[in-house]
Amino acid sequence: MERSDIMKIKDIHTHSLPEEPGTALVCIGCGPIPDGAVEQGHLFSAGLHPWDVTGHDDEALRNLGKLLELPQVLAVGECGFDTLKGPSHELQEQAFIRQVELSERFKKPMILHVVRDFDSIIRLRKNLKPTQAWLIHGFRGGPEQMNQLYANGILVSFGLKHNLEALRQVPSTRLFLETDGKATIVQTISLAATLRATSPQAIQYQITQNSTLLLSPR
Ligand SMILES: [Zn+2]
Repeated sequence: MERSDIMKIKDIHTHSLPEEPGTALVCIGCGPIPDGAVEQGHLFSAGLHPWDVTGHDDEALRNLGKLLELPQVLAVGECGFDTLKGPSHELQEQAFIRQVELSERFKKPMILHVVRDFDSIIRLRKNLKPTQAWLIHGFRGGPEQMNQLYANGILVSFGLKHNLEALRQVPSTRLFLETDGKATIVQTISLAATLRATSPQAIQYQITQNSTLLLSPR
């Protein structure tokens, strides 16, 4: 995949195909990819969501491995931890670790779903020492939590619901925005622009740059 092919991504996490192909990273679970979407130029992340972990995940993870061979699948995820929904922590962690292995093998970063379990993510990042980037999507924590994650080499992205102070303070080079399929990226960009006292164009330029860097093969 050429770097220029991913230069247009503004929405780092959604579940629906964007109007303009290539402007969003579309999460497709463990597949399949919607018919015709590759040909149209759409780009994807693929992963086993913590809610969908059963403990009998071999087939799902095999499918995931096949998807990750495709150049249009740029990241692993969403995967991670949810203390409010899904199976036991132990099962979620087993599935997560297997996906970290895939991320490292295919050299593709991870998009994470983390609900009330940032400690697990920080601990695993420290223990596993992955080379690929990890980005927690839909981050709603405050500046202190955000900075703790940054200090541990973990990135975050912001959707419509977010902590205002965190979104105001995030350094430009670490700014990522998303819709998660719940708004338009234009709305999210304009919110961020107002909050950060800058123009939507400047925000759009920055998030596209950041997404390109994050998702470029390395
Ligand atoms: Zn999602």
